[in-house]
Amino acid sequence: MRQSTYLAQTLRDIPSDAEVKSHQLMLRAGLIRQSTSGVYSFLPIGLKVLKKVENIVREEMDKAGAQEMLLPSIQPSELWKASGRWEEYGAELMRIKDRHDREFALGPTHEEVITTIVRDDVRSYKKLPMTLYQIQTKFRDERRPRFGILRGREFLMKDAYSFDTSFEGLDESYQKMYSAYCNIFTRCELNYRAVVADSGAMGGKDTHEFMVLSTVGEDTIAYSDSSDFAANIEIAPVNVTYEKSSDQPKALGKMETPSKKTIEEVANFLSIAKEDCIKSMLFLVDEKPVLVLVRGDHQVNEVKIKHLFDARSVELAGEAETEKWLSTEAGYIGPVNVDDNITIIADKAVEVMVNAVCGANEQDAHFINVNPGRDFNVSNYADLRNIQEGDPSPDGKGTIKFKEGIEVGHVFKLGTKYSEALNAQFLDENGKTQPMVMGSYGIGVSRTVAAIIEEHHDENGIVWPISVAPFHIHLMPINVKQDEQRKLSEELYESLNNKRYEVLYDDRAERPGVKFKDADLFGLPLRITVGKKAEEGILEVKIRKTGEVLEVHRDNLLEIIE
Ligand code: ATP
Ligand code: MG
Ligand code: MG
Ligand code: MG
Repeated sequence: MRQSTYLAQTLRDIPSDAEVKSHQLMLRAGLIRQSTSGVYSFLPIGLKVLKKVENIVREEMDKAGAQEMLLPSIQPSELWKASGRWEEYGAELMRIKDRHDREFALGPTHEEVITTIVRDDVRSYKKLPMTLYQIQTKFRDERRPRFGILRGREFLMKDAYSFDTSFEGLDESYQKMYSAYCNIFTRCELNYRAVVADSGAMGGKDTHEFMVLSTVGEDTIAYSDSSDFAANIEIAPVNVTYEKSSDQPKALGKMETPSKKTIEEVANFLSIAKEDCIKSMLFLVDEKPVLVLVRGDHQVNEVKIKHLFDARSVELAGEAETEKWLSTEAGYIGPVNVDDNITIIADKAVEVMVNAVCGANEQDAHFINVNPGRDFNVSNYADLRNIQEGDPSPDGKGTIKFKEGIEVGHVFKLGTKYSEALNAQFLDENGKTQPMVMGSYGIGVSRTVAAIIEEHHDENGIVWPISVAPFHIHLMPINVKQDEQRKLSEELYESLNNKRYEVLYDDRAERPGVKFKDADLFGLPLRITVGKKAEEGILEVKIRKTGEVLEVHRDNLLEIIE
């Protein structure tokens, strides 16, 4: 590529609205340009990197036996209503209407769409297991888009979905994706950890996030310094607070009793909950104490009731137990038979919440028969709730350290949630109808690009790992007006291209200082400088990563760079 006509305009100054290094460098090196909040164009050099990451992802998905397809971004609201997520997903779901006033979502994820396709096309166990994936633009109206493409409102994701005939099968499909993810992030030269993540009602071990360790990460990871233990502390802490009142129901022991709330008080509570990320409250419904944990999830106009359950339905063995339960378990115990999050949109909040809570006291309503140990994993991560740095690791090996992480991937055992909601069944060996058992697996492809830059840069610019570098070589005549230099450069450009190296050829008539500065900013692994010694056929090869410089005769160049 000839740089003189290449759309890659570098910026000298650090753009004032770019807080983190990857964002600054992507703007300065001309990889991306902002269109509007959280929405970016990829310029040619940025797209090259995106494609490299995409191809690594594609190769590893294919190797794991997944089949690539492409699903639509425009998804009918009916599908989302069928799964319950039209309401549940809240303000993050981008919604549009067509000319007939029909409603659609711009896909933030594709469980609904893929499930209906597999439902209609797969009937027999003989076709299963099957894992399908796509690499496609996703839309999420993030409350706070920031850090450039790290948190965009339009971004590139790889999403995969597995369909199995049993939970054992799901375990296998999950493991394959997990291994593929390890390969992908290793090939991207990222320092990552797979951490236990929040799976709501599903229990702690059924989902992992792939976190790139980085100070700009928005998640905090608790990990052991001498074992594989690592978890997102998101799954742990919730501040349990409750209101003062006079009488004390027996089951709740020493705990202060909640008072009956008026609708206004509940509304007020919900608005507070919107500010803080997570809050909880006890109040009475039908004279029964009900603990509500509310979680505002980066969104302005909604709150999510993370877990709702009737205190009555948890077996409480006495005061000590009660307190323990409240202080250690309540934060992440999820009720079964209930969707993980119930999303409440602004003005409907009070009504919906009060209904939902009442429902908890009725037969066959959402929140019945919660059984710790059977329905969710109590022991596994109980110690995490108030975990601090320096505590012993829950697995008994080493002590806990904290680190920030960027979530670049997420693997998740869905079970039958979507197959049941959307009727995706198969006939088993005995001719019996069963729901398919699903998993879902995401990678933020564009976010990964930014994470790579966060990890691979220095004070002069990006330092691309070879696996994702937009070009391998930056070919740089110091003075293109000098015949010898230009001639030798042209020859090298041609022969390197013929050898299938990807070469960015700085054929601009710029001052050397400008060219070198740009080269450092672009951060290609090798720079080949053609200068005064061109007449003797001598070049300078500089390794961007180490700064090492070698003088090489043109005849030996290929040997050296291989
Ligand atoms: P986050 O916690 O950062 O909001 P998420 O848990 O909502 O992410 P998932 O639903 O797990 O995201 O989606 C799969 C992957 O898509 C994530 O692991 C992440 O790498 C990527 N991703 C999610 N949201 C964004 C975004 N707004 N911009 C860029 N990438 C994103
Ligand atoms: Mg999110
Ligand atoms: Mg997340
Ligand atoms: Mg996630």
